[in-house]
Amino acid sequence: MFAATAARWRRTTLSVTTAGLMAIGLGSTAPALAAPAPAAQSSARACSLSTSANQPNTDEWASCLSVGATLDLAPALGATANLTVTVQADAVLPPTEIRLELPAQLEWARVPAGLTVGRATAVEPERAGELAVASTTRQLRAGEKLTFTGQIRAIKAGRAQIEAHATASEPGRRHAGKDVVFLTIAEPGRTSAFGQTATNGAAGSTATPTSARSGLPAGLRPASPEPADPVVTTAACDTWVTGNWTYADQTGTWHNAMNLTVEVVNAADGQRLAAAVSNANGAYNICFDALAATDPENGLDVFVRVLTSNALWRVQRSGTPLTFQSETFTDVAPGSTIDLGSRTSDDATLQRGLHAFARANQTWLFLPRPTNSCFDQNDTTCRRLTINWAPDSTSGNYYSLANNEVHLNADAPNSPTTVIHEIGHALMDDIYNDAYPAFPNCSPHYVQRTSSTGCAWTEGWAEWFPATVLNDPFYRWPSGAFLDLENTTWGTSGWDNGDAVEGRVAAAMIDITDSTNEGSWDRYGEGFDNLWHTFTHHVSNTFSEFWAHRTADGFDVSPTGALGALYQSTIDYGFQNPLGNYAPKLLPSPTPHNFGYQTTTNYWSVVAIRAGVNHDLELYDDRAQATRLATSAVTSGVDFIAVDSKWRALGDYHPRVKASGDAGWYRIELAQGSASLPVGTSNVIMTGDSIVAVRDLTLTAGQKVTIKITGSTTQNPELYLVSSNQTTASTWVRTRAQAVASANSAGTGAAETLTYTASAAGHFGLVIVNWSGTGTYQVTRS
Ligand SMILES: [Zn+2]
Repeated sequence: MFAATAARWRRTTLSVTTAGLMAIGLGSTAPALAAPAPAAQSSARACSLSTSANQPNTDEWASCLSVGATLDLAPALGATANLTVTVQADAVLPPTEIRLELPAQLEWARVPAGLTVGRATAVEPERAGELAVASTTRQLRAGEKLTFTGQIRAIKAGRAQIEAHATASEPGRRHAGKDVVFLTIAEPGRTSAFGQTATNGAAGSTATPTSARSGLPAGLRPASPEPADPVVTTAACDTWVTGNWTYADQTGTWHNAMNLTVEVVNAADGQRLAAAVSNANGAYNICFDALAATDPENGLDVFVRVLTSNALWRVQRSGTPLTFQSETFTDVAPGSTIDLGSRTSDDATLQRGLHAFARANQTWLFLPRPTNSCFDQNDTTCRRLTINWAPDSTSGNYYSLANNEVHLNADAPNSPTTVIHEIGHALMDDIYNDAYPAFPNCSPHYVQRTSSTGCAWTEGWAEWFPATVLNDPFYRWPSGAFLDLENTTWGTSGWDNGDAVEGRVAAAMIDITDSTNEGSWDRYGEGFDNLWHTFTHHVSNTFSEFWAHRTADGFDVSPTGALGALYQSTIDYGFQNPLGNYAPKLLPSPTPHNFGYQTTTNYWSVVAIRAGVNHDLELYDDRAQATRLATSAVTSGVDFIAVDSKWRALGDYHPRVKASGDAGWYRIELAQGSASLPVGTSNVIMTGDSIVAVRDLTLTAGQKVTIKITGSTTQNPELYLVSSNQTTASTWVRTRAQAVASANSAGTGAAETLTYTASAAGHFGLVIVNWSGTGTYQVTRS
């Protein structure tokens, strides 16, 4: 039920909702706040499958879709093998596209029954080129598992990966399952094998195929000092090696590769002559002493190797950094320069490893480093970030507290979000000095679901972190799945509420960080640094602890600021929406909603709500909302509660709006009086958003007053007179039901007239209600 009704508040449908609100100004009946039909949404199910059915359970993520792909053998060139693919859904999802993709080394010998063949072009370096695709679209039932069997043939030697995808899209998110079969098709006469066998020793280098380079993302913090690992400096040097190193990302875009270690090695004995790290342009210019190393008999031979390692982070395969070795330059002349030009890996399947290294570099550049070059500015000896990756890794994506290392699947670097998420876990562990918070009920975990406050904090933080580094509020998985973290609020379909939901923590932190304000409560943005300051100066075990630490740090926790951003993400840490004077707010169905305001003048003030479906209004005297002053619960029309500050001391008030079930949108407005109603005619301007205005009157015993209000043809006014006396405190707060006189039945375009004779001297408030319409009311007192 929650899921079925909630879609109307999705930001994607807000424009439709706003159009529906125009109905307020169009009729005299209850203003219909029409809601659009909910968009198709996945049912709120467990979604506890593994993205890849063959992935070990070390992967941290759960999925609504799971794909498993198996091949019965690794075929020799020209031979066939049987491919079996399963697709399983854990929820009712939109129609699911199923795609089985063969790289250039393979073709279909027999297409699985029911699938349609086609071709596509892949741009990822590890499988760039034409794909043979077999696909279909199916509507899966929750729990349903489909199996497809076909036969493939090896037609070309080389490293190959078969990919099986299942994707289902809905507004703001895409579900995906994915599995990959890695194999190496051998040259004729040799044996094909599963996996992608490591290059024997170092990989080679080859010229970068293009001079085009994508620049570093803007705004990264300058890289100084560089993370040299350990640089060999020779006091005397005479000979130079220069060049540039690059990598290609999953879109085939080329980047300069920064902070890789580049070594000049004596080929005769393997001794390193000099080393440096590549700079922001991917360039290196290394001087070494050729004279000292030269064997005068034989001449000096050197080669250059590039490693995915420096003092602060490394990407390693089986414990060794990826290494790329040049050809050997023989008989190097002292004083000469060897220019290798721009180069990259000669093994395209290793580009993802270079990409993962570059995302660690991007993360390091992004972070403030006022004290030293470490990720953790409190370290005296930097902890090196270690990322395990291989071109055929199926380890799952996770951070290991056992060895303080990140583990990535082969395709994880194609999702920078995933790489930086796992780096985020490593940084939390580093900065918390291994006091990593407890994270119960977290394995696997799911962004939208309640887990525990510890899991929600550690994972939500690590979802906010890449969103901020990459300036992208979507979480994006290597499977192709994605989820909009930001445009979610109360009632967003499929989302649980509160600070035990990781996606809510992530969204709250995104809203505090960004200046893109949305929804009814996010009116705030302060950037990255304050959140980072609190994170690096305390060990917080939950988001509520983090909030207490943020409070102690003196950063914004106000209801007009960050507290509202939390509330937008359904984390309610005592949020009371501040009501400004004559500043109506439009809000979705109350859960309930709490407000706060101050009385500022010694006149009547009124808080009022207007809705299409019955909402009720309560007024409390205290912030804790324990002392209730009044309740207005009329079943149709405007609810209001008036306070006479002529007698009641100025102070703070705390309204609450309630409704049963999904009551739809409503408006609320505070009118703080500042004038008496003059004899004669005066004007009161009210827009379509306006609900209420108030004027004071003082009458003597027996005094008769007649008040007439007329407006535009679209306006429908109502008048209420409330009274108080100085000696009876209970009369100082009045509801609509307690009005001593009213006029509200004439309808749209008609005048209302109220006549009242005071039985005793008193202080009165005239509450002017605008049920609908825009224009200027003439209020005549006689
Ligand atoms: Zn995680």
